[in-house]
Amino acid sequence: MSAQPSETLAATPEQILQDVFGYAQFRGAQRDIVHHVTAGGDALVLMPTGGGKSLCYQIPAIARHRAGRGVTVVVSPLIALMHDQVGALHEAGVDAAFLNSTLDWRETQEIEGRLARADITLLYAAPERVTTPRFLELLDGLAARGQLALFAIDEAHCVSQWGHDFRPEYRQLALLHERYPQVPRIALTATADALTRADIVERLQLQEAGQFVSSFDRPNIRYGIVEKKDATTQLLRFIEREHAGEAGVVYCQSRKRVEEVAQALVEAGIDALPYHAGLDAAVRQRHQDRFLREEAVVMVATIAFGMGIDKPDVRFVAHLDMPKNIEGYYQETGRAGRDGLPAEAWMAYGLQDVVNQRRMIDESPGPEEFKQVMRGKLDALLALAEATDCRRVRLLRYFGEESQPCGNCDNCLMPPAVWDGTDAARKLLSTVYRVQQQSGISFGAGHIMDILRGKATEKVKQFGHERVSTFGLGAEFSEPQLRGVLRQLIAIGAIAVNAEKFNTLQLTDGSRAVLKGEVPVRLRESISAPTPSTRSRRSRGEGKAPAVAAAAAPLDAAGQARFAALKTWRAEVAKANNLPAYVIFHDATLAAIAQRAPASLGDLQGISGIGASKLEKYGAQVLEVCAQNGLNG
Ligand code: ADP
Ligand code: ZN
Repeated sequence: MSAQPSETLAATPEQILQDVFGYAQFRGAQRDIVHHVTAGGDALVLMPTGGGKSLCYQIPAIARHRAGRGVTVVVSPLIALMHDQVGALHEAGVDAAFLNSTLDWRETQEIEGRLARADITLLYAAPERVTTPRFLELLDGLAARGQLALFAIDEAHCVSQWGHDFRPEYRQLALLHERYPQVPRIALTATADALTRADIVERLQLQEAGQFVSSFDRPNIRYGIVEKKDATTQLLRFIEREHAGEAGVVYCQSRKRVEEVAQALVEAGIDALPYHAGLDAAVRQRHQDRFLREEAVVMVATIAFGMGIDKPDVRFVAHLDMPKNIEGYYQETGRAGRDGLPAEAWMAYGLQDVVNQRRMIDESPGPEEFKQVMRGKLDALLALAEATDCRRVRLLRYFGEESQPCGNCDNCLMPPAVWDGTDAARKLLSTVYRVQQQSGISFGAGHIMDILRGKATEKVKQFGHERVSTFGLGAEFSEPQLRGVLRQLIAIGAIAVNAEKFNTLQLTDGSRAVLKGEVPVRLRESISAPTPSTRSRRSRGEGKAPAVAAAAAPLDAAGQARFAALKTWRAEVAKANNLPAYVIFHDATLAAIAQRAPASLGDLQGISGIGASKLEKYGAQVLEVCAQNGLNG
């Protein structure tokens, strides 16, 4: 490691944290990382989404700039988001800019000029720009004068084929180290797995870098998984009961489904927008802007939506279809609650999801070993969905972390009743076997369940299946129970669904052990039991002020009035500056202001999220809004 702790700086990282960003304390590993990088060390930072990665390079950038060390270049893959990132820094009084294709010739000239003079603290650019001869020439000039303070490489997993978002341009970034070996680098990612991490180190030549690996737990996110019945209606109920008037993301498998669900939400009076790769680029951009800039937009999307979305106040992420694996699920749900306030990850899943995902793997091109790996990953996700114990313990274990039951997932909050499904499983399997024997063809789940439950349907009679020896043997089981058993059997590979033959059920090599009673099948009584309302816990029934519900302490009536007025004020300021509202102040900051009922600038000091620049810029306005709204309440 190349840390040089002897450097003296104009301001300590702690002072910058407080003065510029208005935060009293570093979170988790931030302190160590910031000190290490400020002192000139290289770092690889693995932190979950919402962990606070930005400050890990922004504070060293400010500290080193103030110490006369010049410009930090931030490599970021998403041009669409640079504007807001830079806007947020401006609001905090930090000199930052971006170079990308949205600028015209004159603006580009201007920024390049400032860059050449090192008259800027942070410069954001995409990797393809950073590695152009023109840009490297600018960097050469800065380096020659000792004015290159730091390289920050965001979303560093993009360098790896094993990550979920490989971008070939990232491979070129190794040349920054070859060309400017004396300039410290910090690479950041929220992707956990060891393979990707090793690849980042190798590709970016970070062998000497300090590695800072944080826990991947997101304690403020409540995980819940329900049995899918009528998914759209369940989703509607979930939003209306728990998240009315709040921002959220709903993930669906297909474009068609995105459109349908968005439509259904709109019809129910929810401000929902669709987002998928089939929409015009301009429409996508407009929808993304509305989601980022407004407060209570629900984005219904395919997985095309999400990377780099750093909106902090997303209160829920819902999955209407099951993702492919736990990595994807965790990445997507991680977009909820970046601000650390309570948020929810909700998934509805059913037998059809299992069937669909299996089929997609089976039908995908590629070698059998690859499919085997994919099936293994799907099984892990199924096991999570069917789990009767703490979801978080399972999630974290998947990423190699051991933990204790969390008290903040559906299973911890409402332990599900468990029943022994071994008998039902054996009866199901033997029905599949006998029907196949008798008719020479196989049948789908509905028909098999009808036979077992002794329902003499037209089809049952047509095939003479009321004479199958298991007919009616499972009359005591309900259809949902049997569906649960089937999901479990598919999950453990004890039964196969043949997609080429109308989704019929077939026995597998794994069936025998279950038939013999060697593999116990334990099931949740019903995963559709309602979870306790977070709404009622958080806001004690104040259903009409959802954002307040997310705040740390409940507000009294006057506080509510101030909070509402502050939000209206914030919306105007954000609009005037063409920035998302959260860039001005987070909800939590507004709630803290409303709570304190400030009468002077001094009263605003020390509220989390109010740094010197924002105090100066907005302090007087905030006081006035408070004075006019329930100050004496
Ligand atoms: P990441 O990039 O890791 O997903 P961000 O850098 O966007 O996370 O930070 C998430 C949120 O947490 C931001 O809104 C940020 O302002 C806030 N935050 C970061 N560090 C702190 C801190 N030390 N104290 C309070 N809030 C913080
Ligand atoms: Zn739990």
